[in-house]
Amino acid sequence: MGSLKRYQHYIGGEWVDPASGEWIESSNPYSGQPWAEFPRGNQADADRAVEAAYNAFTSGDWPSIGPTARGALMRKLGDLIATNAQELAKIEVQDNGKLIAEMGAQLGYVPQWYYYYGGLADKIEGAVLPIDKPDTFNYTLHEPLGVCVAITPWNSPLLITAWKLAPALAAGNTVVLKPSEFTSASAFEFVKLVEEAGFPPGVVNVVSGYGKEIGEALVSHDKVAKVSFTGGTMSGTRVNENAASGLKKVSLELGGKSPNIVFDDCEMDNAVKGVISGIFAATGQTCIAGSRLLVQESIHDEFVDKLVAFAKTAQIGDPMSLDTQVGPVTTPPQYEKILSYFDVAKEDGAECVLGGGKPDDPALGGGWFVQPTIYTGVSNSMRIAQEEIFGPVLSVIPFKDDNHAVEIANDVVYGLASGLWTQSIRRAIGISKLIQAGTVWVNTYRAVSFVSPFGGYKRSGLGKESGQQAIKDYMQTKSVWISTATEVPNPFVIR
Ligand code: NAD
Repeated sequence: MGSLKRYQHYIGGEWVDPASGEWIESSNPYSGQPWAEFPRGNQADADRAVEAAYNAFTSGDWPSIGPTARGALMRKLGDLIATNAQELAKIEVQDNGKLIAEMGAQLGYVPQWYYYYGGLADKIEGAVLPIDKPDTFNYTLHEPLGVCVAITPWNSPLLITAWKLAPALAAGNTVVLKPSEFTSASAFEFVKLVEEAGFPPGVVNVVSGYGKEIGEALVSHDKVAKVSFTGGTMSGTRVNENAASGLKKVSLELGGKSPNIVFDDCEMDNAVKGVISGIFAATGQTCIAGSRLLVQESIHDEFVDKLVAFAKTAQIGDPMSLDTQVGPVTTPPQYEKILSYFDVAKEDGAECVLGGGKPDDPALGGGWFVQPTIYTGVSNSMRIAQEEIFGPVLSVIPFKDDNHAVEIANDVVYGLASGLWTQSIRRAIGISKLIQAGTVWVNTYRAVSFVSPFGGYKRSGLGKESGQQAIKDYMQTKSVWISTATEVPNPFVIR
């Protein structure tokens, strides 16, 4: 116990113990051994953090730091993240078990969100409106909302944090960040850089704990103006319900069951790589996992053979090693969930052509590993085709023609992402329009950028992150009316 790294909440610029006096153990998914402890936050901690954020929004230095100076602070923060990217990546790997190769690249890219929104901070312009009233001057102001709560999942902690914090801060808000109870370490390390960059105390606060405890307390707090949530669809629905009673603004990035659609005119070797990257990269633990492979009947057998042959070469192992391609599952409940779907697939009558269990390599020790798994003979009504597994488990579903592909692709409650593999521009443009998903990748997969809006259709979410619009979602518009008339006219008539 004594050797575990113990973190504290960061509230109002101070490191403080949780009111409960309790901590949550976090284990390294590769070894299965505990390595850190996070504060178990509750209502009292939520109150304290929101008060600190509210005070920083209404008093002190932050309200008088103009947008240009905010942009400069954000660029400094981006630089500090860039300098510390490898260290932050190592902490994330230790906490969530994803590959150092992936997390290193991710953390190297995260500064871009702070640069981009830092640049936008002083480019949000109001307007003087050509108002239709005599002797009247009318203009608009775009103002921050106030205290924003950012809640993140365990799979890409600091990337998803950047998607929320960068527009929120650029817009002039203050933030309470609650990372996942499984992977809070990197958020606590990151906030040290926020302090070093020179953000005033209380502008960014970090608290940890369970969703049902401190998460709900934050979402329900009267002084919170907006909740930006990334996580599972069930939790997101609950967040939406709790936020609704206070009429808070909400953005939700939720789960997915994304179709990766391979047409008979694809470049087959590229499509194989695209399907692999969609489902086995990050051990399938991404919201955008291409977990349904829709493949045209005429090439089905040849494609599946190539896919299985390629997938068999995947190196499973230590996520800290640069050679590893598939690492462990991040959390014990997630590990159990994936294993349970192997039984579901059997009951559904799907045919397992790869994996379907735990690897038997003793070198993998106490880690939470599952085999990269492929099922064929899947119909779209099976549970493995409809439910988000969040692991390296692929369901292969054959289709006849374009209409059939679109029908299957859209026959699911989710709508986060999709992939198309085709050489035909007619197909690429036509089918992109018909797919009910917030992202369509054509002849690529898993590409994201600060420039391009990201978010789900249907039950995959509400609102968008990244891109210029996202900063407006952290702002509200005020209309200011000034009369230049020398006399107030009849007070009983609307103007
Ligand atoms: P989760 O929903 O269990 O938890 C996410 C976060 O929400 C955690 O910080 C948790 O403590 C908190 N939380 C849970 N219930 C809450 C509640 N009632 N009120 C307030 N906070 C609550 O999700 P997870 O298991 O950490 O992450 C996996 C899920 O996240 C998957 O469904 C995945 O698809 C989704 N995800 C979506 C995106 C996206 O951008 N669309 C990105 C990554 C992950």
